[in-house]
Formats: sequence, C-alpha cells, structure tokens
Amino acid sequence: MHQPLSNQQLLDIANQYGTPLYVYHAEQIAHRAHQLKEAFKQCNARFFYAAKALTNINILKLMKSLGLSLDCVSIHEVQLGLKAGFNPSEILYTPNCVSFNEIEEARRLNVHINIDNISILEQFGNKYGNTYPVCIRLNPHIMAGGNFKISTGHIDSKFGISIHQMRHIERIVKTTRLHVKGLHMHTGSEIKDVNVFLAGLDIMFEMARHFDTLEFIDMGSGFKVPYHVDEDETNVHLLGNQVAEALHTFENETGKKLEVWFEPGKFLVSECGYFLVKANIIKQTTATVFVGVNSGFNHLIRPMFYDSYHHIVNISNPEGPERIYTVVGNICETDTFAWDRKLPEVREGDVLAFMNAGAYGFEMSSHFNSRLKPAEVLVMNGHSVLIRSRETFEDLLKNQIEVL
Ligand SMILES: *Cc1c(COP(=O)(O)O)cnc(C)c1O
Repeated sequence: MHQPLSNQQLLDIANQYGTPLYVYHAEQIAHRAHQLKEAFKQCNARFFYAAKALTNINILKLMKSLGLSLDCVSIHEVQLGLKAGFNPSEILYTPNCVSFNEIEEARRLNVHINIDNISILEQFGNKYGNTYPVCIRLNPHIMAGGNFKISTGHIDSKFGISIHQMRHIERIVKTTRLHVKGLHMHTGSEIKDVNVFLAGLDIMFEMARHFDTLEFIDMGSGFKVPYHVDEDETNVHLLGNQVAEALHTFENETGKKLEVWFEPGKFLVSECGYFLVKANIIKQTTATVFVGVNSGFNHLIRPMFYDSYHHIVNISNPEGPERIYTVVGNICETDTFAWDRKLPEVREGDVLAFMNAGAYGFEMSSHFNSRLKPAEVLVMNGHSVLIRSRETFEDLLKNQIEVL
C-alpha cells in the first residue's frame, strides 16, 4: 500500500533544497494510474494524462513509463510529449480557439486531433477529406463541476461544438468525406457524481449513431480528488463498472464496439504534489493573526483564482497547540492562501506544506512582482532529486531587449 510523504521527509527536503519548493511523489502518481486501469479493466479504455496539470518533462516521462498516453492543449505540449518519448499515436491534441496553422502542425506531427469548432472542421474537411481521421469535441451542455470557471459544458461555454449543431457537422462530414473516428466531451473539473459522466456518455452514444466510422468515445476528465478531509472523490470503480455496462449495451444494440478514452489531470497529479513555503512573519493585527509566507499567488494561484481550498500542515511543529491564522503571501495585492485556518502554532521560520499542490500549481506560476519561480523536486523510491532548478535574477531579464 502506498504511503504519503511524512512531515519529516518533507522537512528534510525543504532543508536540502530550500523554499519555496514544489515536491512531487512518483509513487502516488503510480498508485492513481494503477487505480484507473483497475477500475476500467472491463472496458477497452485508454488514459491520456492531461499534460497541462503538470508538464515537467520528468513527470511526462513517468506517465509514459506507467503506460499512459498524453492529452495536450497546445502545440508546445505536443512537442514536449514527443520529446518525453511518447509516440505520435499516444498523443491527443485537444486545443481550442487555435489557428488552422496549429492544427496543420499537429497533423504534420501525426498526432490524434480533436476539433472543437465548425470553422476548423470545415477547413480540415476541405483540405484533407478522408485522408486524416479526426475526433470531434462536442459540448453536451451538462453543467457540472467544482466552480463556474472550471465548468466547460454549460450553455455559455466556449468549448466544443454544440450537440444541437449535429446537422451542420453531418453536412460538413458528408460534403468533405471527413473521417470521424472519435467523439469527445469534457464537462469540467472536479465532478464527484458518477451520474454526470453516465449522462454525458448517454448523450455521446446518441451522437455516435450519426457516424459509422467511430472507434472511440473520449469522456475527457473531471475526476475529483479530495482537497478537504471531508470531501469524497469520484468513485472510479463504480464508474468503471457502469461505463463497461453501458458500452456493452451499446454494442448489443448497434453492433459497434467502441473504445473509451479518458483525460485525467488532477486525478493523477493533484495529491502527489506538496508546496513547501516558509513563514517569514507572524503579524498580529487588530482582528487577525497573519502568517506571511515566502510565496504568493505568483506560485500557487488556485486559492485566489478559484477560491480553492488547500490543506496546510505546519511540518515544523505538527504537534503544537492549535491557533487560528490567516495565511497570506508576499505579493502586493490581496494574496490570501487561507482564511481563519486552524494550524499548530506557527513560529517565524516554520515550514508549511500545502497539500494537493501537484495539479495546476507550478504550471500556473508567474513572475509577478519580479519574483522567481520555485524549484521542483521528484521523490522516487525514497530518494529526492531536483527536476527544475531554482530561477535566478537573470531569468527575469531573459528575452528582454534593453534599448534605452
Ligand atoms: C484540463 C483538461 C483535462 C484535465 O482536467 P482535470 O480536471 O485536471 O482532470 C482533460 N481534458 C481536457 C480537454 C482539458 O482541457
């Protein structure tokens, strides 16, 4: 059975590499990958890790070694995937609002392409006809997920081609002889309710009847992992059984045997990540005790951007008496990681660990306030190794052209 990293292990790593620091635990990723494969073993399932959650090349290589494929949302993610050793047939390109040039580049690189608007579908069909099979991203208009900003299936969403435009899709497919090999949906992030996925699958089956060249249905992601101790995760075992059953029924009714694809991001890398920071200042104001840390939303933006909860552990004083703190960053803007949080007494110099920091942590970091991005460390087989060095002052000036 898999064990999370202990406070002492994390503290040793903080002492060795300094803070702020992202730490990723390879065994946790392997554990989640294994769990997914087990859950869907009765289906013909493929898993495409959503690279955008965490793109360090070592993480990509790890995913490859675990037998996963890769879902990419930019052409540079595709290039990173190829560099990490994925075959083009193991890469799915799911962009939105990109130029036709970028789609052509993906075709040249020979990866699977997911098309998410009528304009590109028509251009692609006109140019390539039935010579390059594609997948179509549909919007099933399912409203689900943790936060409006991370929901993609609702009526006002920019993502995918509405299922109500099926006549138009069919018109393009027929006229250009486009070969459609897959249908895709991705309704958002952090969907706990298995029924949301099943409702989506039903809609996809309905749509699948419009195409006789279909090989797979891609259900995207949205698998939820717990961020708060009271939260549940998506029951992937239940989902796996129900998806297998639904596929079986579909096969009996239509004679078509389809693969099912998934694109998990958070599920694979959220819990593997720990973000370690140091308490610079304990500041008592009229109403609040602030812990001011040596980081900010320039390093971990999720609390400010999505109001997301990250559990915080005082790894320097885990047994200390609990007190109530507001944990803030050092950015010159409101920069709050956690309000009214009970933590074992925090002293200046203590190291705090943010949990669930693997997904959309480092990836969304920036240089705001001219501060440097954190380093990244991978823990594997009990050993830690630096996988991204800490930036230096020169990195801030890189690509700037001094003309004055
Ligand atoms: C972001 C994204 C994912 C991954 O979502 P998670 O919530 O991290 O699992 C999968 N597919 C697509 C198309 C995405 O944009």
